[in-house]
Amino acid sequence: MRKISADYIFPIHQAPIKNGVVEVDKNGTIVQLGHRKDYAETDLEIHKGILTPGLVNTHCHLELSHMKGKVDTGTSLIPFISSVVQFRDVSQKMIDKAIARGDAQMYKEGIVAVGDISNKTDTAACKSNSKIKYYTFVEMFDFLQDAWTEDTYQQYNEVYKGQADQDGNKKSMVPHAPYSVSVNLFKKLAKANKKGSTVSIHNQETPDENLFFQKKKGAFLDFYKNFDISIDDFQAMGINSIDYALKYMNPDCKTLFVHNTMTNKADIEKAHAWNKNCYWATCPNANLYIENRLPNYQHFLDTNAKVTIGTDSLTSNWQLSIVEEMKAIAKYQSYVPLNTLLTWATLNGAAALGYEDELGSLEVGKTPGLVLLNMGRGLTFKASTRAKRLI
Ligand SMILES: [Zn+2]
Repeated sequence: MRKISADYIFPIHQAPIKNGVVEVDKNGTIVQLGHRKDYAETDLEIHKGILTPGLVNTHCHLELSHMKGKVDTGTSLIPFISSVVQFRDVSQKMIDKAIARGDAQMYKEGIVAVGDISNKTDTAACKSNSKIKYYTFVEMFDFLQDAWTEDTYQQYNEVYKGQADQDGNKKSMVPHAPYSVSVNLFKKLAKANKKGSTVSIHNQETPDENLFFQKKKGAFLDFYKNFDISIDDFQAMGINSIDYALKYMNPDCKTLFVHNTMTNKADIEKAHAWNKNCYWATCPNANLYIENRLPNYQHFLDTNAKVTIGTDSLTSNWQLSIVEEMKAIAKYQSYVPLNTLLTWATLNGAAALGYEDELGSLEVGKTPGLVLLNMGRGLTFKASTRAKRLI
């Protein structure tokens, strides 16, 4: 039995404990929480900093790890996507190496579970052998072409079959984004997953996305033109992109909206009225990398939204670290309280991926992992704050 103590413990399901102690058995199961004064000091492992449950990364594209540093920052979404498509031609050996490196980096960063987007089966072997739990979202898009739905679905169904779902790993089939998924494909995907599974969708990442659905204007017209795909059949709908998704997604699935950079309070409230199991993944460093803007987190606090944190891929981030994401939020929107930020990074993420019975909080009986963070004065993040994995 290890009795681990630090300046503060953040159990997440209850208030932080100053000079707290976490008792953990040899399997990593939480046995008891306590106070340092009730223990003999010689029995304790004492650390400087704060202790939190293992971190959860709800949005990653591990299969894109080989493109680290290849795509320019600050270009906005559409040029970004165009660059990503160009760089997909890399040797399998390099791709596999980068995937293994990404998985190892996340483990070292104290990450215990990942929601990972897959368009291919490149990551399947790595995920099967990883110490991290993976929820694989096999992502489909047919560029709004009803005529392409069947072929798209069949193609990705093969990718789905190739994904591992053993030893705590899970998988589902998901739409890519409102601007890339036809009504037909949305309808097929709504029937594809079991009740209670998690479905993710990229949402409102750029102002042009709403503009496209509202008025059929903006950069998505060029996006389709560049791919030489006709959208003559697409009509302006006078609604936001999320409204289109809500019309066709299945409210019996947990729904993880990803990015939400342009999402406003009314959008969040509409989604909550549609499905009480909505989760909102924010990937601040990716938003800064691609669009150089961030969501307004006050909207999410005001609506009691269950926010989670993702890293996105190494194509649009400098590292795969939930601590670096928390630092970015704390730097630019410092009104988000530390305990709230840690809840986003742990328990909310675990719940979004259906791992809340074992991960996400230091509750007795769970095996959530244990992470030490070296904080600055007044429990603030400093540039040198890092995650140290204790379990
Ligand atoms: Zn993404």
